[in-house]
Amino acid sequence: MSEHSELSEIRASVRALCEKFPGEYWRKLDRERGYPTEFVNALTEAGFLAALIPEEYGGSGLTMRAAITIMEEIHASGCNGAACHAQMYTMGTILRHGSDAQKKQYLPQIASGKLRLQAFGVTEPTSGTDTLNLRTTAKKEGNSTYTINGQKIWTSRAEHSDLMLLLARTTPKEQVQKRTDGLSVFLVDMRNAKGLTIKPIRTMMNHATTEVFFDDLKVPAENLIGEEGKGFRYILAGMNAERILIASECIGDAKWFIEKASAYAKGRVLFGRPIGQNQGVQFPIARAYMQMRAAELMVHEAARLYEAGEDCGEEANMAKQLAAEASWAAADMCVQTHGGFGFAEEYDIERKFRETRLYTVAPISTNLVLSYLSEHVLGLPRSY
Ligand SMILES: Cc1cc2nc3c(=O)[nH]c(=O)nc-3n(C[C@H](O)[C@H](O)[C@H](O)COP(=O)(O)OP(=O)(O)OC[C@H]3O[C@@H](n4cnc5c(N)ncnc54)[C@H](O)[C@@H]3O)c2cc1C
Repeated sequence: MSEHSELSEIRASVRALCEKFPGEYWRKLDRERGYPTEFVNALTEAGFLAALIPEEYGGSGLTMRAAITIMEEIHASGCNGAACHAQMYTMGTILRHGSDAQKKQYLPQIASGKLRLQAFGVTEPTSGTDTLNLRTTAKKEGNSTYTINGQKIWTSRAEHSDLMLLLARTTPKEQVQKRTDGLSVFLVDMRNAKGLTIKPIRTMMNHATTEVFFDDLKVPAENLIGEEGKGFRYILAGMNAERILIASECIGDAKWFIEKASAYAKGRVLFGRPIGQNQGVQFPIARAYMQMRAAELMVHEAARLYEAGEDCGEEANMAKQLAAEASWAAADMCVQTHGGFGFAEEYDIERKFRETRLYTVAPISTNLVLSYLSEHVLGLPRSY
C-alpha cells in the first residue's frame, strides 16, 4: 500500500472512532472536569496510542507521519487528544535511552495499554521553564534505591497514569562540571506508592493536570533511565516528538474551527443573504485557512526530518509555534463568525477555544521558541 493510501486509511478509521464521541460527550466531561476514559480506552484498543512503539515491542510500528495523522484527525473531529497524547511519546525516552531489560519489561505493556505511561514530571513551581534550576532531588541510598523529595507542578494525567517519567537532580548544581549535567530521569511506579501525593489543579479547560509532592518516595535504582546525571539531554531529545505531535493537534483544531465557521457562514442568513457572502466574513476564514496550511507544511517537514533521523529541533519548534498560532487565530475567527452563538456551550466552539489556547504556552511557551531560534539557529547572543 502506498504511504498516501495508508495515511488516508488511518485518517478514516480515527474519524470513525471519533464519531462515537460527539460534542455531548466532551461537554459533559468539560462541565464535570471528568476524564475521557472510554475515549482513551477506544484509542488504546485500536492501537493508535502505540503508533510509535516498534512492532518488536508489541506496538504498531508506524511512522511519525502516521502518528501526526492520528492526532490531527482526533482534533479535527472535535475530540481532544490531550487526555492521552503523552502515552504516544513519553515512552520514547525508554525506547531511546532505556536498557534492553527496561524496554522488554515496559514497552510491550505500554503498547497494550496495560501500563499507562502518560505522566511527565519536569516543570516545578519555582523553576518553570528554567529546568536546570529544578529543586526535586533524588538521593542514592546504598546501591539499590533512590529517595525522591520535592514537588512538580502541571504534571498532567498523573491520576490516570501508572508510571511517571520524572526528572530530578542527582548531583548538586555546584558540583557538576557542565551546567546541563546532574539531572537524571526515573521511571516512577505511582501505583500504591508511599511518599507521593497528587493534587488536581482546576484549569480553564478540562485537562486533568495536577501538582505532585514527593516526600521520601523510594524508587528502585533499576528504574533509573540511562546514565545518572545525563537526564536533561534525554528529556530534550524527547521534546521534538512532543512538539511535532502537539503541533498536529493544533492543525486539527484549526481545521475544525475553519470547517465550523465556513458551514455557519453559508447557512446563517441576515439582511437577505448568507453572512458568508460578505467579504468581511469570508476573508478572516480564508486568512485562517491560509495560516493553517502554512503551519501544516512546517509540521510535515518536521515529521519528515524526524523520520529520517535528522536534527529537527528548529523545525519541531517552528511547527509547534506556527501551528499553535494558527489554531488560536482560527479559534478567534470562529467565535467572531458565530457572533453570540460562539459563546454558547452547545456549539462546542467555546470549549475548543479554551482547549486550543494552551498551546502557545505549553509544552513550551512562545518566547522560549523564539529564544531557541534566535540563539541556536540565528547565532544571536545568549539571553539567559
Ligand atoms: C495545562 C498545562 C499542562 C501542562 N502539562 C505539563 C506536563 O504534563 N508536564 C510538565 O512537566 N509540564 C507541564 N506543563 C508546564 C508547561 O510546560 C509550562 O507551563 C510552560 O513550559 C511554561 O512554564 P511556566 O508556566 O513555568 O512559565 P514560566 O517559565 O514562569 O514563564 C512565564 C512567562 O515568562 C516567559 N519567560 C520566561 N523566561 C523568559 C526569558 N528568559 N525570556 C523571555 N521570556 C521568558 C515565558 O515565555 C512565559 O510567557 C503544563 C502546563 C499547563 C498550563
